[in-house]
Amino acid sequence: MKLSILRQLRRLLSLGLITVTIFSFASCATWTSIWERPMETDIDSNLLVIPGSGGPEDTYVPFEGAVDYTGEAHEGTDIYYVGTGARREQIIVIDAGHQAEGSSAKEPNGPGSEEMKAEVSWGAEGAYSGDEHALNLEVALLLRDELIARGYSVVMIRETANVNISNMARAEIANKYNAAAYVRIHANFYEDTTMQGAMTICHSENNPYPDCAATYDESRLLSERILQAFCKTTGMQQMEIREMDDLTGTNWSKVPTTLVEMGFLSNKSDDMLMATKYFKEQAAKGMADGLDAYFTIMDSRVEAQSEQAAAREEAEAVEP
Ligand SMILES: [Zn+2]
Repeated sequence: MKLSILRQLRRLLSLGLITVTIFSFASCATWTSIWERPMETDIDSNLLVIPGSGGPEDTYVPFEGAVDYTGEAHEGTDIYYVGTGARREQIIVIDAGHQAEGSSAKEPNGPGSEEMKAEVSWGAEGAYSGDEHALNLEVALLLRDELIARGYSVVMIRETANVNISNMARAEIANKYNAAAYVRIHANFYEDTTMQGAMTICHSENNPYPDCAATYDESRLLSERILQAFCKTTGMQQMEIREMDDLTGTNWSKVPTTLVEMGFLSNKSDDMLMATKYFKEQAAKGMADGLDAYFTIMDSRVEAQSEQAAAREEAEAVEP
């Protein structure tokens, strides 16, 4: 009872702080870090992004170079927002696939590979949805907003179309942050226009690049959770999880990753659906739901492991 009154008071306080921030546009990092810092379970009121440099119990040390979240898009690449919720140590790196123009310069298909592939291909185009790179970016920005609202830290590979960043370089950004999940957003295109639905793609267990192969279990689980949740919220037909070992942006990744093919731009009904604002919002919500589900499973695995370790220690201590 006492706790809930305290929570109400806090909520009133933070509402006041949010209003002040919106109207003043001032940086109020020092005092928000004292007053606005959310409780462990309080992840629903995180409209502000503050540098994680709070009191002594604040152990999370964020990367440098974070920008404040204002809901606007930034120019350039590698844009980092520090989350404020219980999930803030989980940095989600989001890649809106492609860019305004492809780049045919070549780069290795994976670490140490002699096979060379184009740095970034041109995206596809839908009669209703338009350019794939723009569609991917719209959904990516909505996913960013959704994840920040849920308390995650987010890194955007790009927030504008006019960049030139290769698939390898994109994966290297995800590696730099040791991303808890690296989500690549795309839309499909195929000559058979009856082909429709969403799929997710990860690498196989036998991926030839050891750092990438090591994340197979997590990447597969992430792909499953995101595909399922995405199809549930968007109504997109659920296809399979495909395992591919020739995607440069996946092969260079050392962190759990999935590539979401949201639907077929070559299929009229998928294309018309993807063109709607409703779809884009539901797509972002679905991917965020999938990430929540993934981390819930990962948390329970960690918990089970530490319980097992504690039980082992106890058993050893009892032995003479
Ligand atoms: Zn694509």
